[in-house]
Amino acid sequence: MTDDTRTRLVAALRGELRFNEPMARHTALKVGGPADFFAIPADPSDLQSLMAVILEMGMPYLVVGGGYNLLVRDGGFRGVVISLKQFCSMEKLPDNRLRAEAGSTNQQLVRFANGQGLTGLEFLSGIPGMVGGALSVNAGAHGRSVLELVESLTTMQGGKVTVTFREDLRYGYRHLELKPGEIVLAAVFSLAVGDAEEIEGRTQGYLEHRRNSQRVGYPNAGSFFKNPEGKQAWRLIDEVGLRGCQIGGAQVSEVHTNFLVNRGGAKAADFLQLAQVIKSKVREQSGIDLEEEVRIVGAD
Ligand SMILES: Cc1cc2nc3c(=O)[nH]c(=O)nc-3n(C[C@H](O)[C@H](O)[C@H](O)COP(=O)(O)OP(=O)(O)OC[C@H]3O[C@@H](n4cnc5c(N)ncnc54)[C@H](O)[C@@H]3O)c2cc1C
Repeated sequence: MTDDTRTRLVAALRGELRFNEPMARHTALKVGGPADFFAIPADPSDLQSLMAVILEMGMPYLVVGGGYNLLVRDGGFRGVVISLKQFCSMEKLPDNRLRAEAGSTNQQLVRFANGQGLTGLEFLSGIPGMVGGALSVNAGAHGRSVLELVESLTTMQGGKVTVTFREDLRYGYRHLELKPGEIVLAAVFSLAVGDAEEIEGRTQGYLEHRRNSQRVGYPNAGSFFKNPEGKQAWRLIDEVGLRGCQIGGAQVSEVHTNFLVNRGGAKAADFLQLAQVIKSKVREQSGIDLEEEVRIVGAD
């Protein structure tokens, strides 16, 4: 990191800029080396001015939400990590629609929709993270996923803001095709009017279900692997006898075998090694290639 880079980034940003920020502070697994720069733009125009410098200098960048689906390697990130946590406005629009910015949390969005008597988003209530993160990975549960409810996405790429309607998005199970470097800024959700008590009942039901099934007790990133077509990743891992298997501080949860947990002091390398052991054992026994749901980024 040169002094010139530092000076130019400081001058470009009205929001907060941190240096050598440990990414372990920003990931649910509590691992990950330092990011050269960690920027928290104050608003979209601040992001635009930051992006102008980043693009001009050709610096790598990475947008993070809550870090609940993210594994940052121990070498950290050479470039700028950008948090949109200040972008958290939500508004009601005509025709049962809501607009939410990327930095709102899923919980805030669900509460807001419930408060407006709008139904559809209740399934998101127990999924930790921010709206931008949920949209970027097409988060889902109970047979529903967030992009089904989207009317349009507002994104930024190369400093230019674009609105894309759902019909023109390419997405699938835990996947949204974004262009390289494209940043999700906000979404409009198209919902339906519902009965307030029933909406709240469903929300609480989903939360209760999670409290009962996912009480793993240690830092984790939820499901580590995607479910292969017609199969359940947890079952495949259990069948090869890896429940409780531990490498360094990373362990296959005793409670839920598709959750890898940090038993204390884990390194990103421990999780990566454990993931390799799981993948090769499952491949050996069932011929199935497990694919990580958790996004893996950064330098070794
Ligand atoms: C206990 C637990 C339970 C979970 N249960 C579920 C579940 O039921 N269903 C489910 O789908 N997930 C689940 N997860 C995983 C996680 O909560 C979701 O994937 C969530 O949507 C991630 O959001 P985030 O804001 O934390 O994103 P992050 O983890 O910060 O980012 C995820 C990816 O999206 C990118 N990204 C983030 N924000 C933006 C943006 N604005 N623009 C462009 N790219 C962006 C990041 O670069 C990264 O590649 C669970 C996690 C935990 C810990």
